[in-house]
Amino acid sequence: MRAFITGLCLLSVLTFSVPRGTSQKPKQIVIAAGTVLDGKGGVLHNTRIVVEGSKIVRIDPNAAPVDYDLRGLTVLPGWIDSHVHITWSFGPDGKNAGPGGTTQFAKDAAAANAKATLMAGFTTVQSVGSSNDLPLRDAIARGALPGPRILTSADPLFGRNEQSGTPDEIRAFVRKQKEAGADLIKIFAAGSVRRPDMLLSQEQLNAACDEAKKLGLRTLVHAYKDAVRAAVLAGCTEIEHGPLATDDTLKLMVQKGVWLDPQAGLVMENYLLNKDKFAGTPGYPEEVFPVIKEMIPIFHDFFKQALKIPGLKIVFGSDAVAGSHGRNAEEFIDRVKDGGADPMSAMVSANSLAAEALGMSNQIGSITPGFEADIIALDGDPIKDITAVRRVVFVMKGGVVYKNARN
Ligand SMILES: [Zn+2]
Repeated sequence: MRAFITGLCLLSVLTFSVPRGTSQKPKQIVIAAGTVLDGKGGVLHNTRIVVEGSKIVRIDPNAAPVDYDLRGLTVLPGWIDSHVHITWSFGPDGKNAGPGGTTQFAKDAAAANAKATLMAGFTTVQSVGSSNDLPLRDAIARGALPGPRILTSADPLFGRNEQSGTPDEIRAFVRKQKEAGADLIKIFAAGSVRRPDMLLSQEQLNAACDEAKKLGLRTLVHAYKDAVRAAVLAGCTEIEHGPLATDDTLKLMVQKGVWLDPQAGLVMENYLLNKDKFAGTPGYPEEVFPVIKEMIPIFHDFFKQALKIPGLKIVFGSDAVAGSHGRNAEEFIDRVKDGGADPMSAMVSANSLAAEALGMSNQIGSITPGFEADIIALDGDPIKDITAVRRVVFVMKGGVVYKNARN
């Protein structure tokens, strides 16, 4: 926790540029870069990115004058984390307080999570989620708080077998989240690796994912083992976690275009790192911690299993809870070092691929004219040394510079 607090303190050394007025033509910002990862797997050298207002307007090696000289760094699109719990925090007693707090303390903690996430290079996150995400999302969107662009599920559908309701009741729950302002629907369809039993029937899952689809909402399903296949058959959009699914099920995901968001370590390492703060709080009995440790290799093996399935779309999601906001990029290191991911595909999984999974592939996730100017820079080359993801020294979101620690 001390490391976490120190991290936050360091991150508070920020520079905010003043958002420009809209009445006159916005000034152009020129960023000089020696190496640019374009977010789609390509690399550009010795070029300049021209930003106007919130957008990238052109890539032009001759653009001048240069406002930000990022040569010597690796420039890439702001990362997208497809699975966070942005309001999940530790409470005033330092203990796990979950995502649902509504006190001023909880609101401040959620705002701090958002700021830490942005400063760590994540310009968009998908929170899955809590209804407390909604006011935070909106405050960030109107510029009242620094933070990533947030998409949220609002309240998730918790699978509780028959108690989850009839298919009609489940459809009503999905509509209620949409009315509350949800951008997607989160569904818990199974327990854990230890207890992977399905918590929703095929019929219930069919109702949830079908109703969401009718409303134009994507569905992210927490699933293990048989629940993975059931969610795929139900036409859901993306599987979260996924261990104990068979190769046949993963191949079916490819056929049906279902996304996979597996984790390679951060979420479990974070529980162990912050054991004192989680142990004894709801859902985290003392005896679960040795089990969490034993689960880590299962997640690594599943990640490797998934990588072997040709065409499977593996997206980046850290599952950040209290203690890991702002450390989301540790999951890249886990994916590369322990999961066997290729560093470039790890980067793409949080850029253009994640944007596609969010249905935002024409707005974010690559350094492309017309796209949002979400641009970060790392001190180091993550393709050669994945730990460079820890050294985010420049963050621009929507054309606004939030961090420029180089100068
Ligand atoms: Zn989660």
